[in-house]
Amino acid sequence: MNTTNTHTPQAFSEYPLEGALQSSLADLGYTHLTKAQEACLSVVLEGQDAAVKAKTGSGKTLAFGLGALQSLIKAQEAGHSGVHTLVLCPTRELAQQVAEQLRLLAKHHANTKILTLVGGISIGPQIASLVHAPSVVVGTPGRVMDLISKQKLDVSAVKTLVLDEADRILDMGFADQMGWILNALPKARHSMLFSATFGSAIQSLTKQYLQKAAVIEVEDNEQHSQITQLGYQIQDDRSVYAVAALLTHYQPQSCMVFCQTKHETQALCDELLGMGFSVHTIHGDLTQAQRQQVLTQFSIKTCNVLVATDVAARGLDLDQVDLVINAQLADSAETHTHRVGRTGRAEQTGTAITLIQDNQQKALAQIAELTNSHIPVKHIQALRFHANRIALPEHECVMIDGGKKQKISKGDLLGALIKQAEIVKDDIGKMQITHDKSYVAIKQRSVKRALAHFREHKVKGKSLRARKLK
Ligand code: ADP
Ligand code: MG
Repeated sequence: MNTTNTHTPQAFSEYPLEGALQSSLADLGYTHLTKAQEACLSVVLEGQDAAVKAKTGSGKTLAFGLGALQSLIKAQEAGHSGVHTLVLCPTRELAQQVAEQLRLLAKHHANTKILTLVGGISIGPQIASLVHAPSVVVGTPGRVMDLISKQKLDVSAVKTLVLDEADRILDMGFADQMGWILNALPKARHSMLFSATFGSAIQSLTKQYLQKAAVIEVEDNEQHSQITQLGYQIQDDRSVYAVAALLTHYQPQSCMVFCQTKHETQALCDELLGMGFSVHTIHGDLTQAQRQQVLTQFSIKTCNVLVATDVAARGLDLDQVDLVINAQLADSAETHTHRVGRTGRAEQTGTAITLIQDNQQKALAQIAELTNSHIPVKHIQALRFHANRIALPEHECVMIDGGKKQKISKGDLLGALIKQAEIVKDDIGKMQITHDKSYVAIKQRSVKRALAHFREHKVKGKSLRARKLK
Protein backbone atom coordinates (compact mmCIF):
# COMPACT_ATOMS: atom_id res chain seq x y z
CA MET A 1 0.00 0.00 0.00
CA ASN A 2 1.14 3.47 -0.87
CA THR A 3 2.11 5.46 2.17
CA THR A 4 3.13 8.79 0.72
CA ASN A 5 0.90 11.83 0.68
CA THR A 6 0.63 11.68 -3.07
CA HIS A 7 -1.33 8.42 -2.81
CA THR A 8 -4.06 8.32 -5.45
CA PRO A 9 -7.17 6.57 -4.19
CA GLN A 10 -8.35 3.42 -5.93
CA ALA A 11 -11.40 3.55 -8.17
CA PHE A 12 -14.44 1.33 -7.62
CA SER A 13 -14.14 0.34 -11.27
CA GLU A 14 -10.96 -1.59 -10.37
CA TYR A 15 -13.01 -3.93 -8.18
CA PRO A 16 -14.93 -6.97 -9.43
CA LEU A 17 -18.30 -5.56 -8.39
CA GLU A 18 -21.61 -6.68 -9.88
CA GLY A 19 -22.96 -4.38 -12.59
CA ALA A 20 -25.97 -3.44 -10.48
CA LEU A 21 -23.66 -2.18 -7.73
CA GLN A 22 -21.41 -0.28 -10.14
CA SER A 23 -24.53 1.44 -11.47
CA SER A 24 -25.65 2.47 -8.00
CA LEU A 25 -22.18 3.80 -7.20
CA ALA A 26 -22.31 5.84 -10.38
CA ASP A 27 -25.75 7.21 -9.43
CA LEU A 28 -24.41 8.19 -6.04
CA GLY A 29 -21.41 9.83 -7.64
CA TYR A 30 -18.93 7.67 -5.75
CA THR A 31 -15.92 7.02 -7.94
CA HIS A 32 -13.04 6.44 -5.55
CA LEU A 33 -12.67 4.52 -2.33
CA THR A 34 -12.13 6.14 1.02
CA LYS A 35 -9.09 5.10 2.96
CA ALA A 36 -11.07 2.78 5.19
CA GLN A 37 -12.70 1.19 2.16
CA GLU A 38 -9.30 0.63 0.55
CA ALA A 39 -8.17 -1.09 3.71
CA CYS A 40 -11.05 -3.54 3.88
CA LEU A 41 -13.03 -3.84 0.65
CA SER A 42 -11.06 -6.67 -0.93
CA VAL A 43 -11.18 -8.75 2.27
CA VAL A 44 -14.90 -8.04 2.54
CA LEU A 45 -15.56 -8.99 -1.09
CA GLU A 46 -13.57 -12.20 -0.75
CA GLY A 47 -15.88 -13.22 2.05
CA GLN A 48 -13.22 -13.42 4.74
CA ASP A 49 -14.38 -12.52 8.23
CA ALA A 50 -13.14 -9.08 9.21
CA ALA A 51 -12.91 -6.88 12.29
CA VAL A 52 -12.41 -3.30 11.15
CA LYS A 53 -11.51 -0.34 13.28
CA ALA A 54 -12.09 3.01 11.61
CA LYS A 55 -13.31 6.38 12.76
CA THR A 56 -16.78 7.79 12.20
CA GLY A 57 -17.33 9.17 8.73
CA SER A 58 -14.77 6.93 7.07
CA GLY A 59 -17.32 5.16 4.85
CA LYS A 60 -17.79 1.85 6.65
CA THR A 61 -21.45 1.47 5.63
CA LEU A 62 -20.56 1.41 1.96
CA ALA A 63 -17.77 -1.11 2.61
CA PHE A 64 -19.98 -3.67 4.28
CA GLY A 65 -22.96 -2.74 2.09
CA LEU A 66 -21.05 -3.63 -1.04
CA GLY A 67 -19.82 -6.86 0.54
CA ALA A 68 -23.26 -7.92 1.70
CA LEU A 69 -25.08 -7.02 -1.52
CA GLN A 70 -22.47 -8.58 -3.79
CA SER A 71 -22.85 -11.81 -1.85
CA LEU A 72 -26.65 -11.46 -1.86
CA ILE A 73 -26.81 -11.05 -5.63
CA LYS A 74 -24.65 -14.12 -6.17
CA ALA A 75 -26.61 -16.16 -3.63
CA GLN A 76 -29.95 -15.21 -5.19
CA GLU A 77 -28.65 -16.24 -8.59
CA ALA A 78 -27.86 -19.59 -7.02
CA GLY A 79 -31.41 -19.87 -5.67
CA HIS A 80 -31.06 -18.46 -2.16
CA SER A 81 -34.23 -17.25 -0.52
CA GLY A 82 -34.97 -15.87 2.93
CA VAL A 83 -32.97 -13.43 5.02
CA HIS A 84 -29.45 -13.28 3.60
CA THR A 85 -27.94 -10.39 5.54
CA LEU A 86 -28.40 -9.32 9.13
CA VAL A 87 -26.97 -5.97 10.23
CA LEU A 88 -27.06 -5.14 13.94
CA CYS A 89 -26.75 -1.49 14.98
CA PRO A 90 -26.71 0.18 18.41
CA THR A 91 -29.47 2.74 17.78
CA ARG A 92 -32.65 3.12 15.78
CA GLU A 93 -31.43 6.13 13.83
CA LEU A 94 -28.28 4.37 12.80
CA ALA A 95 -30.32 1.36 11.69
CA GLN A 96 -32.53 3.67 9.61
CA GLN A 97 -29.53 5.40 8.05
CA VAL A 98 -27.80 2.13 7.24
CA ALA A 99 -30.98 0.72 5.68
CA GLU A 100 -31.40 3.90 3.64
CA GLN A 101 -27.85 3.62 2.27
CA LEU A 102 -28.30 -0.08 1.49
CA ARG A 103 -31.52 0.69 -0.41
CA LEU A 104 -29.65 3.21 -2.55
CA LEU A 105 -26.95 0.65 -3.24
CA ALA A 106 -29.46 -2.09 -4.06
CA LYS A 107 -31.54 0.12 -6.34
CA HIS A 108 -30.47 -1.59 -9.57
CA HIS A 109 -30.96 -5.11 -8.28
CA ALA A 110 -34.58 -6.27 -8.33
CA ASN A 111 -36.05 -8.24 -5.41
CA THR A 112 -34.01 -6.68 -2.64
CA LYS A 113 -36.32 -6.10 0.26
CA ILE A 114 -34.51 -4.28 3.04
CA LEU A 115 -36.32 -4.09 6.34
CA THR A 116 -35.50 -2.17 9.52
CA LEU A 117 -36.47 -3.88 12.75
CA VAL A 118 -36.02 -1.51 15.67
CA GLY A 119 -37.62 -0.94 19.03
CA GLY A 120 -39.72 2.02 20.06
CA ILE A 121 -42.35 1.32 17.42
CA SER A 122 -45.07 -1.29 17.58
CA ILE A 123 -44.11 -4.82 16.72
CA GLY A 124 -47.34 -5.78 14.91
CA PRO A 125 -46.59 -4.16 11.55
CA GLN A 126 -43.05 -5.54 11.70
CA ILE A 127 -44.42 -9.04 12.15
CA ALA A 128 -46.78 -8.44 9.23
CA SER A 129 -43.95 -7.30 6.99
CA LEU A 130 -41.98 -10.42 7.86
CA VAL A 131 -44.60 -12.65 6.24
CA HIS A 132 -42.61 -12.22 3.05
CA ALA A 133 -39.02 -12.64 4.16
CA PRO A 134 -36.80 -9.64 3.42
CA SER A 135 -33.36 -10.16 1.89
CA VAL A 136 -31.71 -7.82 4.35
CA VAL A 137 -32.61 -7.01 7.94
CA VAL A 138 -31.11 -3.99 9.67
CA GLY A 139 -32.03 -3.85 13.31
CA THR A 140 -31.26 -3.18 16.92
CA PRO A 141 -30.44 -6.20 19.10
CA GLY A 142 -33.46 -6.05 21.42
CA ARG A 143 -36.09 -6.09 18.70
CA VAL A 144 -34.26 -8.57 16.49
CA MET A 145 -33.92 -11.00 19.38
CA ASP A 146 -37.57 -10.54 20.22
CA LEU A 147 -38.67 -11.36 16.69
CA ILE A 148 -36.39 -14.39 16.41
CA SER A 149 -37.62 -15.80 19.69
CA LYS A 150 -41.24 -15.23 18.65
CA GLN A 151 -40.33 -17.24 15.52
CA LYS A 152 -41.36 -14.37 13.29
CA LEU A 153 -37.88 -13.72 11.98
CA ASP A 154 -36.24 -16.76 10.43
CA VAL A 155 -32.46 -16.41 10.44
CA SER A 156 -31.64 -19.96 9.41
CA ALA A 157 -30.55 -18.89 5.90
CA VAL A 158 -28.39 -15.93 6.96
CA LYS A 159 -25.11 -15.80 5.06
CA THR A 160 -23.79 -12.40 6.05
CA LEU A 161 -23.67 -10.81 9.48
CA VAL A 162 -22.59 -7.24 10.17
CA LEU A 163 -22.05 -5.76 13.61
CA ASP A 164 -21.96 -2.02 12.99
CA GLU A 165 -20.53 0.23 15.72
CA ALA A 166 -19.91 -2.92 17.73
CA ASP A 167 -18.31 -1.01 20.60
CA ARG A 168 -21.46 1.08 21.02
CA ILE A 169 -23.62 -2.03 20.94
CA LEU A 170 -21.61 -3.27 23.92
CA ASP A 171 -21.57 0.12 25.66
CA MET A 172 -25.34 0.23 25.45
CA GLY A 173 -25.62 -3.01 27.33
CA PHE A 174 -26.71 -5.17 24.41
CA ALA A 175 -23.94 -7.78 24.89
CA ASP A 176 -26.31 -10.51 26.04
CA GLN A 177 -28.89 -9.96 23.32
CA MET A 178 -26.18 -9.79 20.70
CA GLY A 179 -24.61 -13.05 21.95
CA TRP A 180 -28.02 -14.71 21.91
CA ILE A 181 -28.62 -13.61 18.31
CA LEU A 182 -25.17 -14.70 17.15
CA ASN A 183 -25.76 -18.14 18.63
CA ALA A 184 -29.04 -18.38 16.72
CA LEU A 185 -27.32 -17.79 13.36
CA PRO A 186 -25.88 -20.49 11.09
CA LYS A 187 -22.25 -21.21 11.95
CA ALA A 188 -21.17 -21.07 8.32
CA ARG A 189 -21.50 -17.43 7.53
CA HIS A 190 -19.52 -14.33 6.64
CA SER A 191 -19.15 -12.07 9.67
CA MET A 192 -17.94 -8.48 9.71
CA LEU A 193 -17.49 -6.30 12.73
CA PHE A 194 -17.01 -2.53 12.57
CA SER A 195 -15.98 -0.45 15.49
CA ALA A 196 -14.46 2.91 16.22
CA THR A 197 -12.50 1.48 19.15
CA PHE A 198 -10.76 -1.84 19.65
CA GLY A 199 -10.80 -2.50 23.37
CA SER A 200 -10.57 -5.90 25.01
CA ALA A 201 -14.32 -6.51 24.85
CA ILE A 202 -14.26 -6.05 21.08
CA GLN A 203 -11.24 -8.31 20.79
CA SER A 204 -12.92 -11.11 22.69
CA LEU A 205 -16.10 -10.63 20.66
CA THR A 206 -13.98 -11.03 17.53
CA LYS A 207 -12.35 -14.19 18.87
CA GLN A 208 -15.62 -15.70 19.96
CA TYR A 209 -17.84 -15.04 16.97
CA LEU A 210 -15.64 -14.41 13.95
CA GLN A 211 -13.59 -17.10 12.20
CA LYS A 212 -10.04 -16.49 10.97
CA ALA A 213 -10.85 -12.83 10.93
CA ALA A 214 -8.64 -10.26 9.26
CA VAL A 215 -8.08 -7.55 11.86
CA ILE A 216 -7.84 -4.22 10.09
CA GLU A 217 -7.04 -0.98 11.85
CA VAL A 218 -7.35 2.09 9.69
CA GLU A 219 -4.87 4.67 10.86
CA ASP A 220 -6.24 8.10 11.34
CA ASN A 221 -3.19 10.15 10.47
CA GLU A 222 -5.14 13.18 9.38
CA GLN A 223 -5.61 13.65 13.13
CA HIS A 224 -7.90 16.66 12.89
CA SER A 225 -5.12 18.99 11.88
CA GLN A 226 -7.76 21.45 10.68
CA ILE A 227 -9.39 21.67 14.08
CA THR A 228 -8.56 24.32 16.60
CA GLN A 229 -9.15 23.09 20.11
CA LEU A 230 -9.55 25.15 23.24
CA GLY A 231 -10.41 24.40 26.83
CA TYR A 232 -12.32 26.77 29.08
CA GLN A 233 -12.26 26.50 32.80
CA ILE A 234 -15.60 27.21 34.41
CA GLN A 235 -17.37 26.94 37.73
CA ASP A 236 -19.82 24.10 38.09
CA ASP A 237 -22.97 26.21 37.93
CA ARG A 238 -21.80 28.31 35.00
CA SER A 239 -21.92 25.83 32.17
CA VAL A 240 -25.16 27.11 30.61
CA TYR A 241 -23.80 30.64 30.63
CA ALA A 242 -20.52 29.43 29.18
CA VAL A 243 -22.23 27.60 26.33
CA ALA A 244 -24.40 30.64 25.61
CA ALA A 245 -21.32 32.88 25.64
CA LEU A 246 -19.52 30.60 23.21
CA LEU A 247 -22.53 30.53 20.90
CA THR A 248 -22.80 34.30 20.75
CA HIS A 249 -19.04 34.65 20.38
CA TYR A 250 -18.61 32.17 17.51
CA GLN A 251 -22.10 32.48 16.00
CA PRO A 252 -21.89 29.07 14.32
CA GLN A 253 -24.34 28.10 11.58
CA SER A 254 -24.25 24.61 12.94
CA CYS A 255 -23.00 23.52 16.33
CA MET A 256 -23.11 20.30 18.31
CA VAL A 257 -23.03 20.47 22.08
CA PHE A 258 -22.24 17.26 23.96
CA CYS A 259 -23.36 16.36 27.47
CA GLN A 260 -22.94 13.15 29.46
CA THR A 261 -26.54 12.27 30.35
CA LYS A 262 -30.04 12.56 28.89
CA HIS A 263 -31.03 14.71 31.81
CA GLU A 264 -28.19 17.20 31.34
CA THR A 265 -28.85 17.27 27.62
CA GLN A 266 -32.52 18.13 28.04
CA ALA A 267 -31.84 20.67 30.80
CA LEU A 268 -29.22 22.52 28.76
CA CYS A 269 -31.46 22.52 25.69
CA ASP A 270 -34.37 23.98 27.69
CA GLU A 271 -32.19 26.73 29.16
CA LEU A 272 -30.76 27.71 25.79
CA LEU A 273 -34.25 27.76 24.28
CA GLY A 274 -35.34 30.06 27.08
CA MET A 275 -32.48 32.42 26.21
CA GLY A 276 -33.64 32.58 22.59
CA PHE A 277 -31.33 30.19 20.76
CA SER A 278 -32.47 27.91 17.96
CA VAL A 279 -31.73 24.59 19.60
CA HIS A 280 -32.92 21.01 19.67
CA THR A 281 -31.80 17.96 21.57
CA ILE A 282 -31.29 14.32 20.71
CA HIS A 283 -31.18 11.64 23.38
CA GLY A 284 -32.64 8.26 24.15
CA ASP A 285 -36.01 9.38 25.53
CA LEU A 286 -37.37 10.88 22.32
CA THR A 287 -39.84 9.03 20.15
CA GLN A 288 -38.73 7.90 16.73
CA ALA A 289 -40.81 10.65 15.09
CA GLN A 290 -39.31 13.34 17.33
CA ARG A 291 -35.77 12.23 16.58
CA GLN A 292 -36.43 12.20 12.88
CA GLN A 293 -37.74 15.75 13.05
CA VAL A 294 -34.81 16.97 15.09
CA LEU A 295 -32.18 15.39 12.85
CA THR A 296 -33.90 16.69 9.75
CA GLN A 297 -34.17 20.21 11.12
CA PHE A 298 -30.49 20.15 11.94
CA SER A 299 -29.49 18.85 8.54
CA ILE A 300 -31.62 21.28 6.53
CA LYS A 301 -30.25 24.05 8.73
CA THR A 302 -33.49 25.28 10.26
CA CYS A 303 -32.00 24.70 13.69
CA ASN A 304 -28.38 25.54 14.33
CA VAL A 305 -27.60 24.02 17.70
CA LEU A 306 -27.99 20.34 18.52
CA VAL A 307 -27.43 19.19 22.09
CA ALA A 308 -26.69 15.48 22.21
CA THR A 309 -25.51 12.60 24.31
CA ASP A 310 -22.61 10.56 22.94
CA VAL A 311 -24.78 7.52 22.52
CA ALA A 312 -27.46 9.32 20.52
CA ALA A 313 -24.94 11.03 18.25
CA ARG A 314 -22.69 8.09 17.63
CA GLY A 315 -22.54 6.81 14.08
CA LEU A 316 -25.07 9.30 12.75
CA ASP A 317 -24.09 10.63 9.37
CA LEU A 318 -24.56 14.34 9.97
CA ASP A 319 -22.97 17.02 7.85
CA GLN A 320 -19.91 18.52 9.36
CA VAL A 321 -20.51 21.28 11.91
CA ASP A 322 -18.62 24.56 12.44
CA LEU A 323 -18.32 24.26 16.17
CA VAL A 324 -18.28 21.46 18.72
CA ILE A 325 -18.79 22.31 22.37
CA ASN A 326 -18.14 19.72 25.04
CA ALA A 327 -20.34 21.04 27.83
CA GLN A 328 -18.90 18.25 29.93
CA LEU A 329 -15.57 16.53 29.51
CA ALA A 330 -15.84 13.22 27.64
CA ASP A 331 -15.34 10.04 29.65
CA SER A 332 -12.43 8.89 27.46
CA ALA A 333 -9.98 10.11 24.86
CA GLU A 334 -11.79 8.01 22.25
CA THR A 335 -15.12 9.67 22.98
CA HIS A 336 -13.45 13.08 22.92
CA THR A 337 -12.01 12.30 19.49
CA HIS A 338 -15.42 11.26 18.22
CA ARG A 339 -17.07 14.41 19.41
CA VAL A 340 -14.35 16.64 18.03
CA GLY A 341 -14.39 14.77 14.72
CA ARG A 342 -17.85 16.20 14.04
CA THR A 343 -16.10 19.37 12.90
CA GLY A 344 -13.17 20.08 10.60
CA ARG A 345 -13.93 17.26 8.20
CA ALA A 346 -12.99 17.19 4.55
CA GLU A 347 -10.44 19.98 4.46
CA GLN A 348 -12.71 22.43 6.24
CA THR A 349 -11.62 24.15 9.39
CA GLY A 350 -13.44 23.70 12.64
CA THR A 351 -13.33 24.65 16.28
CA ALA A 352 -13.85 22.35 19.24
CA ILE A 353 -14.21 23.72 22.74
CA THR A 354 -14.16 21.76 25.94
CA LEU A 355 -15.53 23.14 29.19
CA ILE A 356 -13.80 21.84 32.28
CA GLN A 357 -14.27 22.18 36.01
CA ASP A 358 -11.47 23.27 38.35
CA ASN A 359 -10.42 19.72 39.05
CA GLN A 360 -10.38 18.52 35.43
CA GLN A 361 -7.24 20.27 34.17
CA LYS A 362 -5.25 17.06 34.41
CA ALA A 363 -7.90 14.94 32.72
CA LEU A 364 -8.02 17.32 29.77
CA ALA A 365 -4.23 17.41 29.52
CA GLN A 366 -4.27 13.63 29.41
CA ILE A 367 -6.83 13.60 26.61
CA ALA A 368 -4.72 16.11 24.69
CA GLU A 369 -1.70 13.89 25.06
CA LEU A 370 -3.47 10.68 24.10
CA THR A 371 -4.99 12.29 21.02
CA ASN A 372 -1.84 14.10 20.07
CA SER A 373 -3.51 17.48 20.09
CA HIS A 374 -2.82 20.87 21.53
CA ILE A 375 -5.60 22.12 23.82
CA PRO A 376 -4.72 25.41 25.54
CA VAL A 377 -6.94 26.28 28.51
CA LYS A 378 -8.42 29.73 29.12
CA HIS A 379 -10.77 31.26 31.65
CA ILE A 380 -14.35 31.73 30.57
CA GLN A 381 -14.34 35.23 32.07
CA ALA A 382 -12.76 36.24 28.79
CA LEU A 383 -16.09 35.52 27.09
CA ARG A 384 -19.46 37.18 27.59
CA PHE A 385 -22.94 36.21 26.56
CA HIS A 386 -24.49 38.90 24.34
CA ALA A 387 -28.25 38.48 23.96
CA ASN A 388 -28.21 40.69 20.86
CA ARG A 389 -25.67 38.45 19.12
CA ILE A 390 -27.73 35.25 19.01
CA ALA A 391 -27.42 33.91 15.48
CA LEU A 392 -30.66 32.38 14.26
CA PRO A 393 -31.08 30.20 11.19
CA GLU A 394 -32.01 31.91 7.94
CA HIS A 395 -34.85 29.49 7.32
CA GLU A 396 -37.74 27.93 9.18
CA CYS A 397 -38.88 24.35 8.76
CA VAL A 398 -42.18 23.53 7.11
CA MET A 399 -43.20 19.91 7.52
CA ILE A 400 -45.58 18.43 4.97
CA ASP A 401 -47.57 15.26 5.58
CA GLY A 402 -46.53 13.51 2.42
CA GLY A 403 -43.32 11.86 1.30
CA LYS A 404 -41.91 9.15 -0.91
CA LYS A 405 -44.89 6.91 -0.16
CA GLN A 406 -47.17 9.58 -1.66
CA LYS A 407 -44.71 9.90 -4.57
CA ILE A 408 -43.80 13.44 -3.62
CA SER A 409 -40.49 14.61 -5.09
CA LYS A 410 -38.36 17.71 -4.60
CA GLY A 411 -39.47 18.84 -8.03
CA ASP A 412 -43.14 18.65 -7.00
CA LEU A 413 -42.52 20.77 -3.93
CA LEU A 414 -40.39 23.32 -5.76
CA GLY A 415 -43.06 23.53 -8.46
CA ALA A 416 -45.78 24.15 -5.89
CA LEU A 417 -43.80 26.73 -3.94
CA ILE A 418 -42.02 28.63 -6.69
CA LYS A 419 -44.25 28.29 -9.74
CA GLN A 420 -47.66 28.16 -8.13
CA ALA A 421 -47.30 29.99 -4.82
CA GLU A 422 -44.80 32.36 -6.47
CA ILE A 423 -42.34 32.33 -3.64
CA VAL A 424 -38.96 33.61 -4.80
CA LYS A 425 -36.51 30.80 -5.35
CA ASP A 426 -34.03 32.42 -3.02
CA ASP A 427 -36.40 31.95 -0.09
CA ILE A 428 -36.32 28.16 -0.36
CA GLY A 429 -33.43 26.40 1.33
CA LYS A 430 -32.66 22.72 1.75
CA MET A 431 -35.24 19.97 1.59
CA GLN A 432 -35.51 16.46 2.85
CA ILE A 433 -38.08 13.86 1.88
CA THR A 434 -38.56 10.78 4.02
CA HIS A 435 -40.91 7.85 3.70
CA ASP A 436 -44.06 9.78 4.59
CA LYS A 437 -42.98 13.36 5.32
CA SER A 438 -41.30 16.22 3.52
CA TYR A 439 -39.35 18.99 5.18
CA VAL A 440 -38.60 22.29 3.47
CA ALA A 441 -36.45 25.13 4.76
CA ILE A 442 -38.22 28.41 3.94
CA LYS A 443 -37.29 31.97 4.83
CA GLN A 444 -39.55 33.36 7.51
CA ARG A 445 -41.13 36.00 5.27
CA SER A 446 -42.46 33.30 2.93
CA VAL A 447 -43.60 30.70 5.44
CA LYS A 448 -47.20 31.98 5.71
CA ARG A 449 -47.55 32.00 1.97
CA ALA A 450 -46.25 28.46 1.72
CA LEU A 451 -48.64 27.19 4.41
CA ALA A 452 -51.59 28.96 2.76
CA HIS A 453 -50.68 27.37 -0.54
CA PHE A 454 -50.72 23.85 0.86
CA ARG A 455 -54.02 24.61 2.64
CA GLU A 456 -55.72 25.80 -0.53
CA HIS A 457 -54.12 23.72 -3.28
CA LYS A 458 -53.40 20.11 -3.98
CA VAL A 459 -50.02 18.67 -4.88
CA LYS A 460 -50.20 15.86 -7.44
CA GLY A 461 -53.93 15.70 -6.84
CA LYS A 462 -53.53 15.27 -3.11
CA SER A 463 -54.29 17.65 -0.28
CA LEU A 464 -51.26 17.68 1.95
CA ARG A 465 -51.29 19.08 5.44
CA ALA A 466 -48.39 21.40 6.19
CA ARG A 467 -47.26 23.09 9.35
CA LYS A 468 -44.33 25.02 10.64
CA LEU A 469 -42.14 23.14 13.10
CA LYS A 470 -40.80 24.83 16.17
P1 ADP B 1 -18.97 5.55 8.99
O1 ADP B 1 -19.95 4.41 9.07
O2 ADP B 1 -17.57 5.09 8.80
O3 ADP B 1 -19.12 6.50 10.12
P2 ADP B 1 -20.52 6.35 6.72
O4 ADP B 1 -20.62 5.02 6.12
O5 ADP B 1 -21.72 6.87 7.43
O6 ADP B 1 -19.27 6.41 7.69
O7 ADP B 1 -20.06 7.37 5.56
C1 ADP B 1 -19.89 8.74 5.77
C2 ADP B 1 -20.27 9.52 4.53
O8 ADP B 1 -19.36 9.30 3.46
C3 ADP B 1 -21.64 9.14 3.97
O9 ADP B 1 -22.34 10.31 3.65
C4 ADP B 1 -21.32 8.33 2.74
O10 ADP B 1 -22.37 8.40 1.82
C5 ADP B 1 -20.05 8.98 2.26
N1 ADP B 1 -19.19 8.07 1.47
C6 ADP B 1 -18.88 6.79 1.78
N2 ADP B 1 -18.04 6.25 0.88
C7 ADP B 1 -17.78 7.22 -0.03
C8 ADP B 1 -16.97 7.28 -1.22
N3 ADP B 1 -16.25 6.24 -1.62
N4 ADP B 1 -16.95 8.44 -1.91
C9 ADP B 1 -17.68 9.49 -1.49
N5 ADP B 1 -18.46 9.51 -0.37
C10 ADP B 1 -18.52 8.39 0.36
MG1 MG C 1 -21.19 3.76 10.40
